[in-house]
Amino acid sequence: AAAAAAVEDPITPPVNVNFKQLLIDGKFVNAASGKTLPTLDPRTGDVIAHVAEGDAEDINRAVAAARKAFDEGPWPKMTAYERQRILLRFADLIEKHNDEIAALETWDNGKPYEQATKVEVPMMTRLIRYYAGWADKIHGLTAPADGPYHVETLHEPIGVVGQIIPWNFPLLMFAWKIGPALACGNTIVLKTSELTPLSALFVANLLHEAGLPPGVLNVISGFGPTAGAAIASHMDVDKVAFTGSTNTGKAILEMAAKSNLKSVTLELGGKSPFIVCEGADVDKAVELAHFALFFNQGQCCCAGSRTFVHESIYDEFVEKAKARALNRTVGDPFKGGIEQGPQIDTKQFKKIMKYIKSGVESGATLEAGGDRLGNKGYYIQPTVFSNVKDNMLIAKEEIFGPVQSILKFRDLDEVIRRANDTHYGLGAGVFTQNIDTAQTLTRALRVGSVWVNCFDIFDAAIPFGGYKMSGQGREKGIYSLSNYLQVKAVITSL
Ligand code: NAD
Repeated sequence: AAAAAAVEDPITPPVNVNFKQLLIDGKFVNAASGKTLPTLDPRTGDVIAHVAEGDAEDINRAVAAARKAFDEGPWPKMTAYERQRILLRFADLIEKHNDEIAALETWDNGKPYEQATKVEVPMMTRLIRYYAGWADKIHGLTAPADGPYHVETLHEPIGVVGQIIPWNFPLLMFAWKIGPALACGNTIVLKTSELTPLSALFVANLLHEAGLPPGVLNVISGFGPTAGAAIASHMDVDKVAFTGSTNTGKAILEMAAKSNLKSVTLELGGKSPFIVCEGADVDKAVELAHFALFFNQGQCCCAGSRTFVHESIYDEFVEKAKARALNRTVGDPFKGGIEQGPQIDTKQFKKIMKYIKSGVESGATLEAGGDRLGNKGYYIQPTVFSNVKDNMLIAKEEIFGPVQSILKFRDLDEVIRRANDTHYGLGAGVFTQNIDTAQTLTRALRVGSVWVNCFDIFDAAIPFGGYKMSGQGREKGIYSLSNYLQVKAVITSL
């Protein structure tokens, strides 16, 4: 039954693609090279649009525009209240165009339209309002000195900020990056993922409609090794904020070090544990663990991709997790009631299928799924493995797809050791009604977010980021502000 929807003729998206060029200095322009890149519909692999393909030369143009906007204003010289009002008008415009933006996002990315329109675009609006709220509340402190001095700190914008984002949450990653950077008064050169350039261009236009001065936000679509690398190694970019894979994060850090030592924040990959403890309500645990892994086609950096289940409930959990996966509605993401759309592209599709094969070959038990759905697009059956061992690739590496690995554990010390036995440290889920167990686990897990009896709660004020090789720094909440501010100490002799 799950296969049927995926092979139906795709629904025509209720939206036009109006913005396909680079946004530099407040204008939509072609790439200097004249090149374009195709962006594809993950439901079919067909081309949606040819979008300008920016490279190093366009990054130079964008950085020059951002530098001019920063040095000559009016942006950093505006009052914080004026910047706040622009951000608030922007939020109103996103709200007004909510469904149109969601349709572009679904078309380009393949995520369920209901998820985009009811959750992700409203979350973006909320986040922009949150940072608009901060714009006029950023200020320094006074500090005591051991002599006759008056000491004050000024919290100043860093300058020209480079931002590089991935394809799995194109709009939310855009918002997490630009919200705090603009609230703090920086100017921006942002590169979208070559796989999902559309929604950011649309909303960037709205931001200009809201009154953003030219050059403050420049949006470049283009590839990583060309446009992305040009940002990370640019001598006139003062900071780079990146979300994407751990390997690319390492490359960015290296480029920043070798150029101008620009400051870097990184939000990288993960292999997050979801721990179901002894005595848990199995039905509820199965549902939450299912959501933790399968949400967004399994393409979440913090996906609960190692489901650890206590031995006392393991067999029952596996049976129910299998039934839940078999029940998952997969199909055209524009259709109502669809929980899972296609994977983003053929490369990810093949990578996930390879991991499924490796799971079978390494001796895990394939409980559900394991195959593609239909014969076009990148649909994959919700897949569940049981009897997964820690040393199997499916338990060690980030799959970034709808593949749940269920592992068995005996006691808390053991599961803490195994859950932490990874280079990653992004998120973790804990499912228990026992407060002592919850407290023990939340403190012992070496990760940036622990969700207890919930998962993927991403309110604007909640910080997010990784321990270990899952990243450096935090986004959202007050924590993101320090990513975009310099602290200047002013010492005046009295
Ligand atoms: P990716 O690293 O391949 O690409 C991310 C971005 O970096 C894209 O815009 C890409 O064009 C650019 N890029 C690629 N090579 C580059 C280079 N050499 N120099 C500069 N830029 C370069 O990652 P992806 O496949 O787009 O995204 C999936 C990964 O992102 C997963 O590993 C996932 O865990 C991670 N992710 C992390 C978070 C988080 O907040 N921690 C959020 C979403 C995704």
